[in-house]
Amino acid sequence: MNSTIRLFCVHSLACLTFCTAILLAFSAPSAFAQKTLIYCGTLIDGVKNDAQSEMTIVVEGKKIVSVAKGYTKAEANDKVVDLKTKTVTPGFIDLHVHIESETSRDQYLKRMSYSMADIAYEAQKNGLTTLMAGFTTVRDMGGSGVNIALRNAINKGTVVGPRIFTSGKSIATTGGHGDPTNGFRTDAQFPDALTNGVVNSADEARQAVRQRYKDGVDCIKITATGGVLSIAKNGKAPQFMDDELDAIIKTAKDYGFHVAAHAHGAEGIKRALKAGVTTIEHGTFMDDEAIAIFKQKGAYLVPTITAGKTVADSAKVPGYYHALVVPKAIETGKQSQETFAKAYKAGVKIAFGTDAGVFLHGRNAKEFEYMTEVGMPPIEALKSATMTAAEILDMKDQLGSLESGKLADIIAVDENPLKNIKTLQNVVFVMKDGVVYKKP
Ligand SMILES: [Zn+2]
Repeated sequence: MNSTIRLFCVHSLACLTFCTAILLAFSAPSAFAQKTLIYCGTLIDGVKNDAQSEMTIVVEGKKIVSVAKGYTKAEANDKVVDLKTKTVTPGFIDLHVHIESETSRDQYLKRMSYSMADIAYEAQKNGLTTLMAGFTTVRDMGGSGVNIALRNAINKGTVVGPRIFTSGKSIATTGGHGDPTNGFRTDAQFPDALTNGVVNSADEARQAVRQRYKDGVDCIKITATGGVLSIAKNGKAPQFMDDELDAIIKTAKDYGFHVAAHAHGAEGIKRALKAGVTTIEHGTFMDDEAIAIFKQKGAYLVPTITAGKTVADSAKVPGYYHALVVPKAIETGKQSQETFAKAYKAGVKIAFGTDAGVFLHGRNAKEFEYMTEVGMPPIEALKSATMTAAEILDMKDQLGSLESGKLADIIAVDENPLKNIKTLQNVVFVMKDGVVYKKP
Protein backbone atom coordinates (compact mmCIF):
# COMPACT_ATOMS: atom_id res chain seq x y z
CA MET A 1 0.00 0.00 0.00
CA ASN A 2 1.53 3.36 -0.92
CA SER A 3 1.61 6.12 1.66
CA THR A 4 -1.11 8.27 0.02
CA ILE A 5 -3.63 5.41 0.01
CA ARG A 6 -2.69 4.44 3.57
CA LEU A 7 -3.14 8.02 4.74
CA PHE A 8 -6.57 8.13 3.03
CA CYS A 9 -7.61 4.89 4.75
CA VAL A 10 -6.52 6.10 8.16
CA HIS A 11 -8.29 9.39 7.57
CA SER A 12 -11.51 7.62 6.45
CA LEU A 13 -11.43 5.35 9.46
CA ALA A 14 -10.96 8.31 11.78
CA CYS A 15 -13.80 10.13 10.07
CA LEU A 16 -16.10 7.10 10.35
CA THR A 17 -15.30 6.74 14.05
CA PHE A 18 -15.97 10.43 14.63
CA CYS A 19 -19.29 10.37 12.76
CA THR A 20 -20.42 7.20 14.57
CA ALA A 21 -19.60 8.91 17.84
CA ILE A 22 -21.82 11.85 16.93
CA LEU A 23 -24.67 9.51 15.91
CA LEU A 24 -24.40 7.64 19.19
CA ALA A 25 -24.17 10.88 21.17
CA PHE A 26 -27.52 12.01 19.73
CA SER A 27 -28.74 8.39 19.91
CA ALA A 28 -31.92 9.20 17.94
CA PRO A 29 -31.09 8.80 14.23
CA SER A 30 -34.22 10.83 13.47
CA ALA A 31 -32.33 13.93 14.65
CA PHE A 32 -30.73 13.89 11.18
CA ALA A 33 -33.74 13.05 9.02
CA GLN A 34 -35.51 15.92 7.33
CA LYS A 35 -38.83 16.76 8.91
CA THR A 36 -41.85 18.38 7.33
CA LEU A 37 -43.90 20.62 9.60
CA ILE A 38 -47.49 21.07 8.44
CA TYR A 39 -49.19 24.08 10.01
CA CYS A 40 -52.94 23.35 10.11
CA GLY A 41 -55.31 26.29 10.63
CA THR A 42 -58.06 23.77 11.33
CA LEU A 43 -57.50 20.07 11.87
CA ILE A 44 -59.97 17.20 11.76
CA ASP A 45 -57.83 14.30 12.89
CA GLY A 46 -60.24 11.43 12.21
CA VAL A 47 -60.48 10.49 15.88
CA LYS A 48 -62.11 13.43 17.68
CA ASN A 49 -65.57 14.64 16.71
CA ASP A 50 -64.58 18.32 16.83
CA ALA A 51 -62.12 20.26 14.73
CA GLN A 52 -59.01 21.64 16.45
CA SER A 53 -57.40 24.96 15.55
CA GLU A 54 -53.75 25.94 15.11
CA MET A 55 -52.05 22.55 15.09
CA THR A 56 -48.76 21.21 13.73
CA ILE A 57 -48.31 17.78 12.18
CA VAL A 58 -44.70 16.64 11.93
CA VAL A 59 -43.90 14.16 9.16
CA GLU A 60 -40.66 12.22 8.85
CA GLY A 61 -40.19 9.89 5.89
CA LYS A 62 -43.50 8.13 5.25
CA LYS A 63 -44.90 8.64 8.73
CA ILE A 64 -46.48 11.13 11.08
CA VAL A 65 -44.21 11.50 14.10
CA SER A 66 -46.27 13.99 16.09
CA VAL A 67 -49.44 16.08 16.14
CA ALA A 68 -49.28 19.01 18.56
CA LYS A 69 -51.13 22.17 19.54
CA GLY A 70 -49.71 25.46 18.20
CA TYR A 71 -47.28 26.12 15.37
CA THR A 72 -44.04 24.33 16.29
CA LYS A 73 -40.91 26.37 15.52
CA ALA A 74 -39.03 24.97 12.52
CA GLU A 75 -35.33 24.04 12.84
CA ALA A 76 -32.84 24.95 10.11
CA ASN A 77 -33.25 21.68 8.23
CA ASP A 78 -37.07 21.45 8.45
CA LYS A 79 -39.49 21.97 5.58
CA VAL A 80 -42.67 23.91 6.35
CA VAL A 81 -46.05 23.49 4.65
CA ASP A 82 -48.24 26.45 5.55
CA LEU A 83 -51.93 25.42 5.65
CA LYS A 84 -52.89 28.04 8.28
CA THR A 85 -55.89 29.15 6.20
CA LYS A 86 -57.00 25.58 5.37
CA THR A 87 -58.70 22.61 7.01
CA VAL A 88 -56.58 19.47 7.15
CA THR A 89 -58.02 15.94 7.26
CA PRO A 90 -56.73 12.39 6.77
CA GLY A 91 -56.51 11.29 3.11
CA PHE A 92 -59.83 9.79 2.06
CA ILE A 93 -60.52 6.14 1.27
CA ASP A 94 -63.09 5.20 -1.39
CA LEU A 95 -64.06 1.55 -0.94
CA HIS A 96 -65.74 1.19 -4.32
CA VAL A 97 -64.02 2.40 -7.47
CA HIS A 98 -63.36 0.95 -10.91
CA ILE A 99 -60.03 2.58 -11.63
CA GLU A 100 -59.57 1.01 -15.05
CA SER A 101 -62.69 2.36 -16.73
CA GLU A 102 -64.81 5.47 -16.96
CA THR A 103 -68.33 6.03 -18.22
CA SER A 104 -68.63 7.05 -21.87
CA ARG A 105 -70.95 6.53 -24.80
CA ASP A 106 -68.60 3.95 -26.29
CA GLN A 107 -68.01 2.02 -23.07
CA TYR A 108 -69.43 -1.23 -24.49
CA LEU A 109 -67.30 -0.97 -27.64
CA LYS A 110 -64.18 -0.43 -25.52
CA ARG A 111 -64.77 -3.78 -23.83
CA MET A 112 -64.27 -5.45 -27.21
CA SER A 113 -61.54 -3.27 -28.65
CA TYR A 114 -59.24 -2.36 -25.75
CA SER A 115 -56.11 -4.39 -25.13
CA MET A 116 -54.78 -4.89 -21.61
CA ALA A 117 -52.18 -2.20 -22.38
CA ASP A 118 -54.93 0.26 -23.37
CA ILE A 119 -56.74 -0.50 -20.13
CA ALA A 120 -53.57 -0.11 -18.07
CA TYR A 121 -52.81 3.37 -19.46
CA GLU A 122 -56.36 4.54 -18.77
CA ALA A 123 -56.23 3.05 -15.28
CA GLN A 124 -53.06 4.96 -14.48
CA LYS A 125 -54.64 8.24 -15.63
CA ASN A 126 -57.80 7.56 -13.60
CA GLY A 127 -55.72 6.71 -10.55
CA LEU A 128 -53.85 10.00 -10.76
CA THR A 129 -57.13 11.94 -11.02
CA THR A 130 -58.42 10.11 -7.94
CA LEU A 131 -55.31 10.89 -5.90
CA MET A 132 -55.47 14.59 -6.81
CA ALA A 133 -59.08 14.66 -5.58
CA GLY A 134 -57.82 13.72 -2.11
CA PHE A 135 -58.50 9.98 -2.24
CA THR A 136 -55.15 8.58 -1.18
CA THR A 137 -56.45 5.00 -0.91
CA VAL A 138 -59.03 3.09 -2.93
CA ARG A 139 -60.53 -0.38 -2.98
CA ASP A 140 -60.78 -1.35 -6.63
CA MET A 141 -63.90 -3.47 -7.12
CA GLY A 142 -63.31 -5.50 -10.24
CA GLY A 143 -62.37 -5.17 -13.86
CA SER A 144 -59.86 -6.94 -16.09
CA GLY A 145 -57.36 -7.65 -13.30
CA VAL A 146 -54.80 -5.19 -14.69
CA ASN A 147 -54.96 -3.18 -11.46
CA ILE A 148 -52.90 -5.78 -9.64
CA ALA A 149 -49.99 -4.55 -11.79
CA LEU A 150 -51.01 -0.90 -11.30
CA ARG A 151 -51.09 -1.39 -7.53
CA ASN A 152 -47.57 -2.86 -7.63
CA ALA A 153 -46.26 -0.08 -9.89
CA ILE A 154 -47.66 2.59 -7.57
CA ASN A 155 -46.22 0.86 -4.50
CA LYS A 156 -42.81 0.69 -6.18
CA GLY A 157 -43.00 4.36 -7.15
CA THR A 158 -42.90 3.63 -10.89
CA VAL A 159 -46.09 5.65 -11.41
CA VAL A 160 -48.09 8.01 -9.21
CA GLY A 161 -51.52 7.02 -7.92
CA PRO A 162 -53.55 6.19 -4.84
CA ARG A 163 -52.77 3.20 -2.62
CA ILE A 164 -54.80 0.42 -4.25
CA PHE A 165 -56.47 -2.60 -2.68
CA THR A 166 -57.90 -4.59 -5.56
CA SER A 167 -60.25 -7.53 -5.92
CA GLY A 168 -58.92 -8.34 -9.39
CA LYS A 169 -61.75 -9.72 -11.51
CA SER A 170 -65.17 -10.06 -9.89
CA ILE A 171 -66.61 -13.52 -9.36
CA ALA A 172 -69.93 -13.88 -11.20
CA THR A 173 -72.28 -16.57 -12.56
CA THR A 174 -73.20 -17.26 -16.19
CA GLY A 175 -75.22 -14.36 -17.56
CA GLY A 176 -74.89 -12.62 -14.22
CA HIS A 177 -73.66 -9.12 -13.48
CA GLY A 178 -69.91 -9.27 -14.07
CA ASP A 179 -70.05 -12.02 -16.71
CA PRO A 180 -67.73 -10.20 -19.15
CA THR A 181 -69.32 -11.68 -22.28
CA ASN A 182 -72.90 -10.57 -21.54
CA GLY A 183 -74.50 -9.10 -24.65
CA PHE A 184 -71.93 -10.56 -27.06
CA ARG A 185 -73.02 -12.84 -29.95
CA THR A 186 -73.61 -16.31 -28.58
CA ASP A 187 -71.44 -18.16 -31.11
CA ALA A 188 -68.35 -16.10 -30.31
CA GLN A 189 -65.36 -17.88 -28.76
CA PHE A 190 -63.63 -16.25 -25.82
CA PRO A 191 -60.26 -16.90 -24.21
CA ASP A 192 -60.32 -18.51 -20.76
CA ALA A 193 -58.61 -15.42 -19.35
CA LEU A 194 -61.69 -13.35 -20.19
CA THR A 195 -64.28 -15.69 -18.72
CA ASN A 196 -62.19 -16.64 -15.69
CA GLY A 197 -64.30 -15.91 -12.62
CA VAL A 198 -67.64 -16.99 -14.11
CA VAL A 199 -68.57 -19.89 -11.84
CA ASN A 200 -71.54 -22.25 -11.59
CA SER A 201 -70.88 -24.51 -8.62
CA ALA A 202 -69.31 -24.46 -5.18
CA ASP A 203 -66.20 -26.17 -6.58
CA GLU A 204 -65.76 -23.55 -9.27
CA ALA A 205 -66.37 -20.81 -6.71
CA ARG A 206 -63.58 -22.16 -4.50
CA GLN A 207 -61.27 -22.41 -7.49
CA ALA A 208 -62.01 -18.80 -8.48
CA VAL A 209 -61.04 -17.54 -5.02
CA ARG A 210 -57.84 -19.58 -5.09
CA GLN A 211 -57.03 -18.27 -8.58
CA ARG A 212 -57.35 -14.71 -7.26
CA TYR A 213 -55.03 -15.57 -4.40
CA LYS A 214 -52.55 -16.80 -7.00
CA ASP A 215 -53.07 -13.63 -9.06
CA GLY A 216 -52.25 -11.50 -6.00
CA VAL A 217 -55.51 -9.75 -5.11
CA ASP A 218 -56.23 -8.04 -1.78
CA CYS A 219 -59.90 -8.96 -1.36
CA ILE A 220 -62.75 -10.72 -3.16
CA LYS A 221 -65.66 -9.12 -5.02
CA ILE A 222 -68.77 -11.07 -6.01
CA THR A 223 -71.87 -10.00 -7.90
CA ALA A 224 -74.60 -11.43 -5.68
CA THR A 225 -77.49 -10.03 -7.75
CA GLY A 226 -78.08 -8.56 -11.17
CA GLY A 227 -76.65 -5.12 -11.85
CA VAL A 228 -77.59 -1.92 -13.61
CA LEU A 229 -74.97 -1.58 -16.36
CA SER A 230 -74.73 -5.22 -17.48
CA ILE A 231 -76.53 -6.06 -20.72
CA ALA A 232 -79.10 -8.25 -18.99
CA LYS A 233 -82.72 -7.79 -18.09
CA ASN A 234 -82.91 -8.23 -14.34
CA GLY A 235 -80.95 -5.94 -12.04
CA LYS A 236 -82.26 -7.40 -8.79
CA ALA A 237 -82.50 -11.20 -8.95
CA PRO A 238 -80.12 -13.26 -6.79
CA GLN A 239 -77.34 -14.86 -8.84
CA PHE A 240 -75.60 -17.22 -6.46
CA MET A 241 -76.86 -20.27 -4.53
CA ASP A 242 -76.14 -20.61 -0.81
CA ASP A 243 -73.55 -23.37 -1.31
CA GLU A 244 -71.62 -21.19 -3.80
CA LEU A 245 -71.65 -18.21 -1.42
CA ASP A 246 -70.58 -20.41 1.45
CA ALA A 247 -67.69 -21.83 -0.61
CA ILE A 248 -66.51 -18.34 -1.60
CA ILE A 249 -66.58 -16.90 1.90
CA LYS A 250 -64.95 -19.88 3.61
CA THR A 251 -62.20 -20.06 0.98
CA ALA A 252 -61.64 -16.29 1.13
CA LYS A 253 -61.22 -16.56 4.90
CA ASP A 254 -58.51 -19.18 4.45
CA TYR A 255 -56.45 -16.61 2.53
CA GLY A 256 -57.26 -13.66 4.80
CA PHE A 257 -59.51 -11.93 2.25
CA HIS A 258 -62.68 -10.08 3.12
CA VAL A 259 -65.57 -10.41 0.65
CA ALA A 260 -67.49 -7.52 -0.89
CA ALA A 261 -70.84 -8.34 -2.50
CA HIS A 262 -72.44 -6.22 -5.17
CA ALA A 263 -76.18 -6.59 -4.44
CA HIS A 264 -79.31 -4.62 -5.33
CA GLY A 265 -82.25 -6.99 -4.67
CA ALA A 266 -83.34 -7.96 -1.14
CA GLU A 267 -83.05 -11.74 -1.54
CA GLY A 268 -79.48 -11.59 -2.85
CA ILE A 269 -78.52 -9.11 -0.11
CA LYS A 270 -79.86 -11.47 2.56
CA ARG A 271 -78.14 -14.55 1.13
CA ALA A 272 -74.80 -12.71 0.93
CA LEU A 273 -75.14 -11.33 4.47
CA LYS A 274 -76.05 -14.73 5.92
CA ALA A 275 -73.05 -16.29 4.19
CA GLY A 276 -70.80 -13.72 5.91
CA VAL A 277 -69.73 -10.99 3.48
CA THR A 278 -68.07 -7.94 5.05
CA THR A 279 -69.63 -5.28 2.82
CA ILE A 280 -72.74 -5.02 0.67
CA GLU A 281 -72.18 -2.70 -2.28
CA HIS A 282 -75.20 -0.57 -3.29
CA GLY A 283 -77.88 -2.46 -1.27
CA THR A 284 -80.50 -0.56 -3.23
CA PHE A 285 -83.65 -2.58 -2.64
CA MET A 286 -82.98 -3.90 0.88
CA ASP A 287 -86.05 -4.53 3.03
CA ASP A 288 -86.53 -4.45 6.82
CA GLU A 289 -85.49 -8.07 7.19
CA ALA A 290 -82.25 -7.34 5.30
CA ILE A 291 -81.60 -4.36 7.61
CA ALA A 292 -82.03 -6.64 10.64
CA ILE A 293 -79.54 -9.17 9.20
CA PHE A 294 -77.05 -6.36 8.45
CA LYS A 295 -77.10 -5.39 12.12
CA GLN A 296 -77.01 -8.93 13.43
CA LYS A 297 -73.99 -9.74 11.24
CA GLY A 298 -72.21 -6.40 11.76
CA ALA A 299 -71.81 -6.00 7.99
CA TYR A 300 -71.31 -2.62 6.32
CA LEU A 301 -73.30 -0.92 3.59
CA VAL A 302 -71.24 0.82 0.90
CA PRO A 303 -73.94 3.14 -0.50
CA THR A 304 -72.60 4.42 -3.90
CA ILE A 305 -75.31 7.11 -4.11
CA THR A 306 -73.29 9.11 -6.64
CA ALA A 307 -73.38 6.20 -9.07
CA GLY A 308 -77.14 5.80 -8.61
CA LYS A 309 -77.79 9.46 -9.34
CA THR A 310 -75.41 9.52 -12.31
CA VAL A 311 -76.80 6.46 -14.09
CA ALA A 312 -80.35 7.81 -13.68
CA ASP A 313 -79.25 11.05 -15.39
CA SER A 314 -77.32 9.30 -18.17
CA ALA A 315 -80.31 7.01 -18.83
CA LYS A 316 -82.27 10.09 -19.95
CA VAL A 317 -79.73 10.75 -22.72
CA PRO A 318 -80.97 8.87 -25.82
CA GLY A 319 -78.58 6.11 -26.85
CA TYR A 320 -76.18 6.53 -23.92
CA TYR A 321 -76.96 3.06 -22.53
CA HIS A 322 -78.14 -0.22 -24.07
CA ALA A 323 -81.96 -0.46 -24.12
CA LEU A 324 -81.89 -3.18 -21.43
CA VAL A 325 -79.95 -0.88 -19.11
CA VAL A 326 -82.18 2.22 -19.27
CA PRO A 327 -85.14 1.10 -17.08
CA LYS A 328 -82.78 -0.43 -14.50
CA ALA A 329 -80.74 2.78 -14.32
CA ILE A 330 -83.82 4.92 -13.75
CA GLU A 331 -85.29 2.68 -11.06
CA THR A 332 -82.00 2.24 -9.15
CA GLY A 333 -81.08 5.91 -9.37
CA LYS A 334 -84.32 6.97 -7.77
CA GLN A 335 -83.87 4.59 -4.85
CA SER A 336 -80.23 4.69 -3.77
CA GLN A 337 -80.17 7.83 -1.61
CA GLU A 338 -83.48 6.95 0.05
CA THR A 339 -82.24 3.45 0.92
CA PHE A 340 -79.01 4.88 2.33
CA ALA A 341 -81.01 7.25 4.59
CA LYS A 342 -83.24 4.42 5.81
CA ALA A 343 -80.34 2.06 6.50
CA TYR A 344 -78.30 4.74 8.28
CA LYS A 345 -81.21 5.75 10.50
CA ALA A 346 -81.88 2.08 11.32
CA GLY A 347 -78.29 1.72 12.58
CA VAL A 348 -76.65 -0.14 9.68
CA LYS A 349 -72.88 0.51 9.66
CA ILE A 350 -71.92 2.71 6.70
CA ALA A 351 -68.58 2.65 4.85
CA PHE A 352 -67.78 5.20 2.16
CA GLY A 353 -67.82 4.07 -1.48
CA THR A 354 -68.93 5.71 -4.69
CA ASP A 355 -68.56 3.36 -7.69
CA ALA A 356 -66.34 5.96 -9.42
CA GLY A 357 -65.85 4.95 -13.04
CA VAL A 358 -69.61 4.60 -13.38
CA PHE A 359 -69.30 8.40 -13.17
CA LEU A 360 -66.20 10.52 -13.85
CA HIS A 361 -63.15 9.81 -11.69
CA GLY A 362 -62.17 12.58 -9.31
CA ARG A 363 -65.75 13.41 -8.35
CA ASN A 364 -65.78 10.92 -5.49
CA ALA A 365 -66.32 13.61 -2.81
CA LYS A 366 -69.79 14.40 -4.15
CA GLU A 367 -70.87 11.34 -2.13
CA PHE A 368 -70.28 13.28 1.13
CA GLU A 369 -72.84 15.84 0.00
CA TYR A 370 -75.41 13.15 -0.83
CA MET A 371 -74.84 11.37 2.51
CA THR A 372 -75.23 14.51 4.63
CA GLU A 373 -78.17 15.78 2.55
CA VAL A 374 -80.36 13.02 4.02
CA GLY A 375 -79.29 13.17 7.64
CA MET A 376 -75.81 11.80 8.24
CA PRO A 377 -73.78 14.32 10.27
CA PRO A 378 -70.68 15.56 8.37
CA ILE A 379 -68.25 14.15 10.94
CA GLU A 380 -69.76 10.68 10.54
CA ALA A 381 -69.59 10.93 6.76
CA LEU A 382 -65.89 11.85 7.09
CA LYS A 383 -65.22 8.94 9.43
CA SER A 384 -66.93 6.53 7.01
CA ALA A 385 -64.23 7.49 4.47
CA THR A 386 -61.35 7.38 6.96
CA MET A 387 -61.31 5.17 10.08
CA THR A 388 -64.24 2.92 9.09
CA ALA A 389 -62.80 2.29 5.63
CA ALA A 390 -59.32 1.70 7.09
CA GLU A 391 -60.81 -0.88 9.45
CA ILE A 392 -62.41 -2.81 6.57
CA LEU A 393 -59.05 -2.84 4.75
CA ASP A 394 -57.41 -4.12 7.94
CA MET A 395 -55.23 -0.99 7.92
CA LYS A 396 -56.51 0.90 10.94
CA ASP A 397 -53.08 0.88 12.58
CA GLN A 398 -51.64 2.68 9.54
CA LEU A 399 -54.43 4.69 7.88
CA GLY A 400 -57.65 6.55 8.67
CA SER A 401 -56.49 9.18 11.18
CA LEU A 402 -53.76 11.74 11.75
CA GLU A 403 -51.91 10.25 14.71
CA SER A 404 -48.29 9.66 15.53
CA GLY A 405 -47.00 6.42 13.95
CA LYS A 406 -49.48 6.35 11.07
CA LEU A 407 -48.68 6.79 7.39
CA ALA A 408 -48.64 10.45 6.34
CA ASP A 409 -51.71 10.53 4.07
CA ILE A 410 -52.87 14.09 4.57
CA ILE A 411 -55.11 16.42 2.57
CA ALA A 412 -56.48 19.95 2.91
CA VAL A 413 -59.48 21.96 1.75
CA ASP A 414 -60.35 25.68 1.84
CA GLU A 415 -63.16 25.56 4.39
CA ASN A 416 -64.20 23.51 7.41
CA PRO A 417 -66.23 20.60 5.95
CA LEU A 418 -68.18 20.29 9.20
CA LYS A 419 -69.70 23.65 8.21
CA ASN A 420 -69.64 23.30 4.42
CA ILE A 421 -69.41 19.72 3.17
CA LYS A 422 -69.09 20.82 -0.48
CA THR A 423 -65.59 22.14 0.21
CA LEU A 424 -64.42 18.50 0.04
CA GLN A 425 -65.05 18.62 -3.70
CA ASN A 426 -62.09 20.96 -4.08
CA VAL A 427 -59.04 19.44 -2.41
CA VAL A 428 -56.08 21.83 -2.48
CA PHE A 429 -53.33 19.81 -0.81
CA VAL A 430 -52.47 16.12 -1.12
CA MET A 431 -49.72 14.20 0.65
CA LYS A 432 -49.44 10.42 0.43
CA ASP A 433 -46.79 8.40 2.26
CA GLY A 434 -45.14 11.69 3.25
CA VAL A 435 -44.76 12.88 -0.36
CA VAL A 436 -46.55 16.07 -1.47
CA TYR A 437 -48.45 15.68 -4.77
CA LYS A 438 -50.56 18.83 -4.73
CA LYS A 439 -50.02 22.20 -3.08
CA PRO A 440 -52.28 25.26 -2.74
ZN1 LIG B 1 -69.14 -1.12 -9.00
